[in-house]
Amino acid sequence: MDVDDIETVAVLGAGNMGHGIAEVAALSGYTVALRDIKEEFVQNGYEQIEWSLGKLAENDRISEEESDAALDRITPLVDVEEAVADADVVIEAVPEQMEIKQDVYGEVEEYAPEEAIFATNTSSLSITDLSEVTERPEQFCGMHFFNPPVRMQLVEVISGEHTDTETLSVVEELAESFDKTPVRVRKDTPGFIVNRILVPLMNEACWMVSEDVATKAEIDSTVKFDIGLPMGAFELGDQVGNDVTYHVLEYMHDVLGDAYEPAPLLETVVEEERYGKKSGVGFYEYEDGDGAQIPTDAGREAIEHRLLAVMANEVGNLVGDDVAPAEDIDEAVMLGAGYPEGPAKLADDAGLDTLVDTLDELHEETGADRYGVSDGLRTHADEGGFYDQEEDDDAVSYEMIRVEYPGEMVGHVVLDRPHRMNTVNIELLEELEQAVETFEADDDVRAILITGEGDKAFSAGADVQSMAASAEPLQAIELSRTGQQAFGKLQSSSLPVVAGIDGYCLGGGMEMSMCADMRVASERSEFGQPELDLGLLPGWGGTQRLQHIVGEGRAKEIILTAEQYEAETMEGYGFVNEVVPNEDLEDRAFELAADLAAGPPVATRFTKKAMLRGWEDTDAGLEIEAQAFGHLIGTDDLMEGITAFMGDGEPEFEGK
Ligand code: NAD
Repeated sequence: MDVDDIETVAVLGAGNMGHGIAEVAALSGYTVALRDIKEEFVQNGYEQIEWSLGKLAENDRISEEESDAALDRITPLVDVEEAVADADVVIEAVPEQMEIKQDVYGEVEEYAPEEAIFATNTSSLSITDLSEVTERPEQFCGMHFFNPPVRMQLVEVISGEHTDTETLSVVEELAESFDKTPVRVRKDTPGFIVNRILVPLMNEACWMVSEDVATKAEIDSTVKFDIGLPMGAFELGDQVGNDVTYHVLEYMHDVLGDAYEPAPLLETVVEEERYGKKSGVGFYEYEDGDGAQIPTDAGREAIEHRLLAVMANEVGNLVGDDVAPAEDIDEAVMLGAGYPEGPAKLADDAGLDTLVDTLDELHEETGADRYGVSDGLRTHADEGGFYDQEEDDDAVSYEMIRVEYPGEMVGHVVLDRPHRMNTVNIELLEELEQAVETFEADDDVRAILITGEGDKAFSAGADVQSMAASAEPLQAIELSRTGQQAFGKLQSSSLPVVAGIDGYCLGGGMEMSMCADMRVASERSEFGQPELDLGLLPGWGGTQRLQHIVGEGRAKEIILTAEQYEAETMEGYGFVNEVVPNEDLEDRAFELAADLAAGPPVATRFTKKAMLRGWEDTDAGLEIEAQAFGHLIGTDDLMEGITAFMGDGEPEFEGK
């Protein structure tokens, strides 16, 4: 089956997850049959979808028409035959009990078309076992959404032992067509990826309290303010539900052995029905107390090492067992748990050797299985990290930029092609991305400053030669994406970024400056997006980012007129934070960067992240931009635009 053949999706179970999955599928244009066992259950799910779609429309995330159309595509049903008879894919989200799921598959097998794919949303049952109750184990896989499906980006697509690759590919493409990000889980292993990382971490936090090694406050303070995760371990546990964590852990314990033995503290809270927020009390008191109050400064290095070591050990298990490569693990945990960086990267940053030592010492002290170093971790510690370290070292020779360390914890990128007005080519993009990564990995750098060499230009735009080499639509799309990605890295950097602009700041150069958090410009600077004069469009994020800075009206003015603007005007538009005399630019830009570098790193990082997350669907916009860039590269108007530009004449566009 091809993903384009999928028209109808049956969702079984209209509960928490089922109704959300049905909503997501309907929003993406699929016909959806939503089934539950009683009229009132399915109606309840349907009403929740109606409410949620209404909210999306109210917040202008979708139009009223889209909301109505999505609801129209969903049919609430109780009759199984009717629900699955036309289904191309069946997504099952019934209660997490083997017997119930078995019954459901028995019924569904009878009525669903032979070629239909079955996908289960189970969190903690074996995909292989479930597949074996059907007659189509090769057309069966896990499709693990996160709660709530409408908001959470990640979908783990899990292979059972019998699943064929085509099924996995189709389900991944289906997830993509739902506007989600699938991550493949190549083996049917308890906890898949995200829970396999989170649950043992939670358990280790509990062990430390049970063994009187640390208090809850110390642990949560370490997790939140030293490691920098979005929530403390206990805070997160209470949010997820301690019964849910315990359930997944027990399953790991059964299948994987004593390394996953639940800590006494976790057992106690579950026995006492202290499930967390939902029951009013968990590790913290919610109903009769103030909830999680986490001190900012109670963290300790020993706790940090122990938690990171346990986490690295699980990454080692997943990588070593070929469940997923480090990049996929990081992507999954960042999307599924909101980690600012993935566990493999966190472990590499802490140093795998240190973490292996931590585990070895604990193992010697306690004899506990969970400190036995996994083969995957040991191998990668020998190699220097989960990520290829050599790759990083190789790339540190820069030709298009200079990387400098002027002090005050500022990392300085100088665009260093003064003879070509610091125009941007592919190599420069790659080097910029590399420089940002290098700064981020360097504890002594707290802010990034970008300036252009010389007094003519910050950057006058894209290097026309590099454009000419990309005259095929597909290459142009790629060129657009490469720039979007490099600039995106700058924009989403955990470090604050200042652009010091002196001279021309045009086209791709201006798009780069849009990714800075603050822009300071000399009086003589000139700004503009000349692309439309060439019959092109700003292809490195300009169609999206500019409007967030200056508002849609001004952004359209700047892009559609393709005029050049004085620094002072751009200050009035809110693009430039400060205009300074020409001779002061360098000092002032550095001063500002140093100022931001002296700010609180964690608060800065979270502020940037929250503000960026608050944007609407920029990725969708970026995709359209890249596609348009690919389309325009082949038009006559582009030739006309470039010819006129070279010859200094006025172009005559024909719309071809
Ligand atoms: P839920 O209890 O909210 O919903 C389950 C629904 O299935 C109920 O409405 C129930 O009436 C219905 N149901 C029972 N038997 C059925 C049948 N034979 N046919 C159709 N519907 C039937 O549960 P949930 O939280 O939505 O979880 C569903 C699945 O998703 C579970 O496998 C769970 O592990 C998984 N999951 C849950 C979460 C979460 O955070 N809640 C996250 C990811 C995955």
